[in-house]
Amino acid sequence: MKNSDTDVIIAGGGLAGATLALTLARVAPNLRVTVVEAFPLSADALPDSYQPSYDARSTALAWGSRLIFEELGLWSRLSEHATPIQQIHVSDRGHFGATRLNAKEYEQQALGYVVDNRWMGLCLMRELLQTNTQWQAPAEVVDMTPSEQGVSVTLKSGDDTSTVTAQCLIVADGGRSGLREKLGFQASHHGYNQNALIANITTSDSHQFVAYERFTDAGPMALLPHGSPSRAGHQSALVWTLSDNELADVLAMSESDKCQRLQERFGWRLGRFTRMGECNHYPLTLTTVGEPIRPGVALVGNAAHALHPVAGQGFNLALRGLMTLAEQFRLAAEQGRPPGDFQILRRYHELHRPDWQQTVQFSDSLIRIFGQSLAPIAAVRDAGLIGLDLLPGAKRLFARKAMGTGGRRAVINGPAASDKK
Ligand SMILES: Cc1cc2nc3c(=O)[nH]c(=O)nc-3n(C[C@H](O)[C@H](O)[C@H](O)COP(=O)(O)OP(=O)(O)OC[C@H]3O[C@@H](n4cnc5c(N)ncnc54)[C@H](O)[C@@H]3O)c2cc1C
Repeated sequence: MKNSDTDVIIAGGGLAGATLALTLARVAPNLRVTVVEAFPLSADALPDSYQPSYDARSTALAWGSRLIFEELGLWSRLSEHATPIQQIHVSDRGHFGATRLNAKEYEQQALGYVVDNRWMGLCLMRELLQTNTQWQAPAEVVDMTPSEQGVSVTLKSGDDTSTVTAQCLIVADGGRSGLREKLGFQASHHGYNQNALIANITTSDSHQFVAYERFTDAGPMALLPHGSPSRAGHQSALVWTLSDNELADVLAMSESDKCQRLQERFGWRLGRFTRMGECNHYPLTLTTVGEPIRPGVALVGNAAHALHPVAGQGFNLALRGLMTLAEQFRLAAEQGRPPGDFQILRRYHELHRPDWQQTVQFSDSLIRIFGQSLAPIAAVRDAGLIGLDLLPGAKRLFARKAMGTGGRRAVINGPAASDKK
């Protein structure tokens, strides 16, 4: 197909859209890629001026995601402000069961890393500005129709409206994706009747690079090692699951009362909670789309799947999918086929689907099993945690999920997997 304005349009330049754009610039440099982002490109898009903020939101990147960012040539920059997770401690409040994963057991430097979202965005942007990727920002994709070239996309920027034709549209507009609905993709939404409260916490004891996942009758919580070395290991990133009522209660509290409530739920493994920064909160739903592809269109990132954040899997899963998509686009380019070719998109989905399904199931069952306060279920999960600690095979499987090394690894630098057959 010829005469399109661009080869690939990515609607949404968040973490998923920007990472895909950078990967395509590395893997298939002859593809013309345009990113459309609703927010203006920040004038301070330079990591050199970056100052970590106490209130920054962060993401737990699995070890496997580090390997991907290494392949993209981004890791050495990202690692300047990445806090390693050397151990994961999973426990159940008021019950005996507990399990520990230790990076040394798996001969890795770390199980994963905690990185500020803003820092990741700046690093991605810095690299992208050195590529041929085109940006339309601030601009929104407001409409899409199939066209002779593939897809015709209507953009709105202020009062101006324009049309761009592309061979393929990638929808990366996030969890509340309006474009997914507009395109008629059927998404299933499962509400957990819970909210995630996110904040950074100061603790009297050092985290010692341990991430805590704690399940309580009121819902799960995670405390991840976070913050610059200057804070000497006394800062953690909190993801605290709360019902609507308790969330309203907690938000109305003073900082010291919030710390005290958290202390009651979490216990004393990190000493005393002395400070809680800005609190952000999100309603929790599991959203997935059965088949995220159509001729000329693919959904990626949170537009395709939004998971419960306690297991820290959402972006890690998205990243593995983006690598598989880029791998298939590279193959298509080598074969002279357009990136929106349905066979190419179908192959991408077939390859990524097992990882997607297992990760969604892993994250959802963790929440369902550990969100139950009924005594028999609590006993089973205690047995599960103890069993996990005692059975190396089960523990290794759990560790592979946590480290993001269980799924298929796309070949983005060398020949794609199917080239080798
Ligand atoms: C509280 C919380 C904690 C999390 N913690 C973790 C974790 O520890 N580990 C992990 O792996 N994952 C985690 N996740 C998941 C992770 O944050 C998401 O997977 C990731 O942010 C998804 O990025 P995205 O680019 O798909 O969506 P978004 O980040 O939402 O980006 C979408 C972008 O699209 C733009 N946009 C929207 N509509 C349009 C339009 N019409 N036209 C153009 N642009 C548009 C928006 O401006 C935005 O920039 C967490 C999620 C939450 C909510």
